[in-house]
Amino acid sequence: MGKSSLVNRLAGRRVAVVEEHRGVTRDRKSVEVEWRGVTFDLVDTGGWLAQGDALEAKVSEQAERAIASADHVLLVVDVATGLMEEDRQAARWALRSGRPVSLVVNKVDDVVHESSGWEFLSLGAGDPHFVSALHGRGAGDLLDHLVDSLQEVTEETEIDVNDGALRVAIVGRPNVGKSTLFNKLIGEERSVVHDMPGTTRDAVDTVVETDSGPIRFIDTAGMRRRAKTEAGLETYAVLRSLDALDRADIAVLVIDATVGATGQDQRLAERIAAAGCPAIVVLNKWELVATDDRPNVLATVGDKLAFLGDAPVLKTTATSGKGVHRLLPALQESAADYVKRVPTGALNRAIRDLQIKQPAPTGKIRYAVQGAIEPPTFTLFVAGRLPATYLRYVERSLRERFELGSTPLRVRIRVD
Ligand code: GDP
Repeated sequence: MGKSSLVNRLAGRRVAVVEEHRGVTRDRKSVEVEWRGVTFDLVDTGGWLAQGDALEAKVSEQAERAIASADHVLLVVDVATGLMEEDRQAARWALRSGRPVSLVVNKVDDVVHESSGWEFLSLGAGDPHFVSALHGRGAGDLLDHLVDSLQEVTEETEIDVNDGALRVAIVGRPNVGKSTLFNKLIGEERSVVHDMPGTTRDAVDTVVETDSGPIRFIDTAGMRRRAKTEAGLETYAVLRSLDALDRADIAVLVIDATVGATGQDQRLAERIAAAGCPAIVVLNKWELVATDDRPNVLATVGDKLAFLGDAPVLKTTATSGKGVHRLLPALQESAADYVKRVPTGALNRAIRDLQIKQPAPTGKIRYAVQGAIEPPTFTLFVAGRLPATYLRYVERSLRERFELGSTPLRVRIRVD
């Protein structure tokens, strides 16, 4: 793959071998690199091998250990061999580590090779950095990027949690029944539930392992402890909800059905919509609403929360647990969609069809790739310009065609 020559290239003349481990199998070399006044250690691993004998497993283990102690991972792939299954596995491993990962496409000796390098976007490790270890092409840009990123890491105050779990925020005004609902939900769930440090220092999240993957409920300490919000602290509770929303992939907006959607609920709904976060609306204390009033309550809530579009609406009685069993499947569905991968061929057929149905006024999508999951992220390669309304049309069409439900989607544009 040419990693060693890349390391030498990046280290340049500034190379000083500070450490040299003779491993059982291959060398794991660490060299000190200085770039723009920033010094860091660059560790060359033997690589990561999908499968193989004991010797190869050792090599992979070394790479894994190197990743675990790294501040940044360079995932090096080879444009000459193209995308290999091993690249996918290595990418998955690197991304799972929660470390920032940069995708380095090596052996791109000239601009002609760049076009074949875009296929690596589907690794989900971000935009490729094209380099040629042999000729030095792109090495300076890569070092710039690396140094910027390393500086960001040291300035970062939040803990980066990237465990692939769908992040769910349960939000709503005090006393609507969030705690009751949450405890019912995890009490009835027979799968594993554990508390984890949250993404901010004092927060605690709860992770529920479900069949379709882990779901992380954000900032649940208050709900688990059944700590009561003091009267008059409504604004504080809503602020806390807003904070959780910023870190969530999907929001569960709990509303007291006997009160209906209030101004505060509307504010929350607007924030959810603005964050591009899909929502599930829960009308709790449903048993207290008289049967005759129910259609009216549903209609009024629908009107007041029109920003939330087609968000599913569940009716629950958290105290008895009635209706609560529907929440987890609704979230699981979102979780499954969240990791969905659309094959490139099918994606490009969809792009072609949606453009035939409604061509963009000022541009054309030449092709598209799904660059990432969690959430599904599509990169459109565009000639000309696409207005925001057209992007929303693309997003809607892809969501429908690939049955992506209410999971968040990202659509990015790259102008050729
Ligand atoms: P939170 O502040 O949103 O977490 O609300 P809580 O879960 O603490 O609930 C507030 C009050 O509403 C408590 O007294 C609950 O017992 C009650 N409550 C919660 N869910 C329901 C429900 O579905 N029906 C009824 N009647 N009361 C409920």
